[in-house]
Amino acid sequence: MKRKFAHVNYKDIPLFKDVTEEEWNDWKWQMRNAIRDIPTLEKVLELNEEERDHLSQTLDQFKMAITPYYAALMDKENNDCPIRKMAVPQLKELYVDPSDLNDPLNEDGDSPVSGLTHRYPDRVLLMVTRECSMYCRHCTRRRIVGETDTSSGKDQLQRDFDYIRNTPEIRDVIISGGDPLVLSDERIDYILTELRKIDHVEIIRIGSRMPVVLPQRITDHLCEVIKKHHPVYVNTHFNHPKEVTIEAQKACEKLANAGVQLGNQSVLLKGINDCPNIMKGLVHDLLMIRVKPYYIYQCDLSEGISHFRTTISKGIEIIENLRGHTSGMAVPTFVVDAPGGGGKIPVMPDYLISQTEKRVVLRNYEGMLSSYTQPSDYHSHDPQKCEYCQNEFLWAKDGVAKLLNEGGTLKPQELRREQRTNGKH
Ligand SMILES: *Cc1c(COP(=O)(O)O)cnc(C)c1O
Ligand code: SF4
Repeated sequence: MKRKFAHVNYKDIPLFKDVTEEEWNDWKWQMRNAIRDIPTLEKVLELNEEERDHLSQTLDQFKMAITPYYAALMDKENNDCPIRKMAVPQLKELYVDPSDLNDPLNEDGDSPVSGLTHRYPDRVLLMVTRECSMYCRHCTRRRIVGETDTSSGKDQLQRDFDYIRNTPEIRDVIISGGDPLVLSDERIDYILTELRKIDHVEIIRIGSRMPVVLPQRITDHLCEVIKKHHPVYVNTHFNHPKEVTIEAQKACEKLANAGVQLGNQSVLLKGINDCPNIMKGLVHDLLMIRVKPYYIYQCDLSEGISHFRTTISKGIEIIENLRGHTSGMAVPTFVVDAPGGGGKIPVMPDYLISQTEKRVVLRNYEGMLSSYTQPSDYHSHDPQKCEYCQNEFLWAKDGVAKLLNEGGTLKPQELRREQRTNGKH
């Protein structure tokens, strides 16, 4: 079956029936006309008394913005629609679950300069704006995103660039937000140009949900700008096959034709995509529009999104249903972004069943067990004779890899016995 994606048919929606094709395809028109209040929302979908009341309570605390394009994807009558659940606030957002954390990923704690998170050795997250074209109800960064619709000023950006310039380990910069593509092409060009002036920055990634919620943003001009600064990667955020429209396809193809590798980072969300078959449909659609499924995130512990959370086992079930059953290219890595700032931890079914010195027993996706007989005379190469092993820049300087390479121990500071002796062990 060759997939055919749907066009978003906005002319059927009374609120948009007089909108010209030109306006509709103008991303700035879409941003200006984002749905931000209840009366406008009621012109595109039916709300019952209770929903209206809940919505107004929620809007006292959290912002809503839905691009007309994304609104046109919503089911007007059915409030179980996955698109609607990602866009329309629910009263549950006001509920703070005992497991909720204000900054679950400790992004503030790992922030050496304002607007920048440096957690991993060689890459940083650079937040250039707090604004988005649409506010996803499940947003991890909801504590900052949309709080004020502001972008980092030149001073702050300058300090962030200085940090990157003065930290030679950084070879990968992830431009994030908010949604960096709310910025003008000129500003994006400026940021990319400044980053490209730093010798040790090898790759640049842009994290944006625009291809999903406002594909009109991906203009020829934007692609021309990005193209000047390769290698640039774009990671986007499709969560459901209904989001894969002809418009989204065009946007992704444009970027791909400009030489951009596209990846997708989904969030596992209750009642939206917590189903192996929905996920399989999504990853197949993504490959058709030249996007490689990269991550599926376990929904994290941010405040007010507990109604979206699934168990971790649901993610394992999804991978079990993908790996081997479909193209390896279609299988993302399922990760839990560890609370407290531990970073992304991959989780998957266990494929290694048992082992001795001689053999390893593995299972495949069908449940077939195979034994792999290991070479008895295996020795790794001599690091002294390997130019890469002599390159200190490539050494793992932290973590379990360091223990394997150099021996030693890695002790949690928080152990009571460490505290009794002030760490004098
Ligand atoms: C996700 C993330 C990255 C990038 O992780 P990759 O696994 O390299 O995609 C970098 N920094 C922070 C703080 C992150 O949350
Ligand atoms: S686009 Fe990203 S940052 Fe913006 S609201 Fe959605 S998830 Fe949050």
